[in-house]
Amino acid sequence: MKKNLETICIHGGWSPKKGEPQQLPIYQSTTFRYETSEQMARLFDLEEEGYFYTRLQNPTNDAVAAKIAALEGGVGAVLTSSGQAASFYAVFNICQAGDHFVTSNTIYGGTYNLFAVTLKKLGIDSTFVDPEWDDDRIRAAFRPNTKCMFGETISNPGGNVLDIERFARLAHEAGVPLIVDNTFATPINCRPFEWGADIVTHSTTKYMDGHATQVGGAVVDSGNFEWEAYADKFPGLTTPDESYHGLTYTKAFGKKAYVTKLVSQLMRDLGSIPAPQNSFLLNLGLETLHLRMPRHCENAQRVAEWLEQNPKVAWVNYCGLPGNKYHDLARKYLPNGSCGVIAFGLKGTREDAIRFMDRLDFVSIVTHVADARTCVLHPASHTHRQLSDEQLREAGVAPDLIRLSVGLENVEDIIADLQQAMA
Ligand SMILES: *Cc1c(COP(=O)(O)O)cnc(C)c1O
Repeated sequence: MKKNLETICIHGGWSPKKGEPQQLPIYQSTTFRYETSEQMARLFDLEEEGYFYTRLQNPTNDAVAAKIAALEGGVGAVLTSSGQAASFYAVFNICQAGDHFVTSNTIYGGTYNLFAVTLKKLGIDSTFVDPEWDDDRIRAAFRPNTKCMFGETISNPGGNVLDIERFARLAHEAGVPLIVDNTFATPINCRPFEWGADIVTHSTTKYMDGHATQVGGAVVDSGNFEWEAYADKFPGLTTPDESYHGLTYTKAFGKKAYVTKLVSQLMRDLGSIPAPQNSFLLNLGLETLHLRMPRHCENAQRVAEWLEQNPKVAWVNYCGLPGNKYHDLARKYLPNGSCGVIAFGLKGTREDAIRFMDRLDFVSIVTHVADARTCVLHPASHTHRQLSDEQLREAGVAPDLIRLSVGLENVEDIIADLQQAMA
């Protein structure tokens, strides 16, 4: 039976049978028992599905991954121990030393650093493009060794909305998949596969968890990219893997080739698996994602409208505002709302911004975003402090930008707190 998102939030990934626990159990076990040596051998040869060691697969983790895959409309998903690990694995699964990829420059600061610094040390080069460039200028960034394209549905912290369909077209013209970080929109508000994206990543630390209890990530495979059509670009998927007895992922796993390789190679060798306890907590968050997202959006819309009319505020970027630069893209990709995160700047100096934040009452200063509690951050002095003013602007982050993550409190109370701190 085909289910709607609200039902998947509650029931996805875990269907207990007679006498089994109604709530997803925490399989807090490193290992799983078999009766014969032959049974175990078949698992190692990937000839049979089953559990043997939690670094590769664990029933709690898998149930939550299956829920996220269903929410996104993908064929499979893998949970990772952080969103950073998800971004790394998503790219590293198809790029190796000597390869290149193209990425939007309006992305999360941690991802920017991963791409601009750390992956380069591994010999994986990237070109940052401004999504506002015209098609030809973006096309010029592709090279013969380009293996994928990357963007964020709604960028953290700038709040820019990605034209997913256009990015997918440009990626596919070049014969490579589009990877989209869908953390801020969540599948409740946008499902990038419906617009042509091939792979979706998440920091589940944010709205999916929603209560700031665990750090985690996910990579979801749409199963749509035709790896075999570009076989020479993706030898890791289309030629025998000597570390797996000469098995070829596209032949053995078809639509699940990418996600299976990610588990059997990257998880095996790098091991960024979440603790089952964390996946359990994430699952509790997912059970109410469909209720929380609309309220985040409703509250943020009210706060954004209030900020826009406030004489102390220099500018507001929230795609729900009719005059916003991204309003049309938001109406297309995010018709039911975007997220609770607003970017704005106060009139005055950097110090005024800091003084404002210091005077807030229940609205807290934290290196976190997208959960039940309203919070603020000044990226230029916190998360992005390693970037120069020029790099900040390149990443779509104005030096005076305050990131306000609107939570689930009473919206009048949120506005009252902002107002007293501005006064
Ligand atoms: C937070 C975040 C990440 C990184 O996730 P962690 O769980 O903190 O490792 C990646 N992308 C986006 C959009 C984020 O907001």
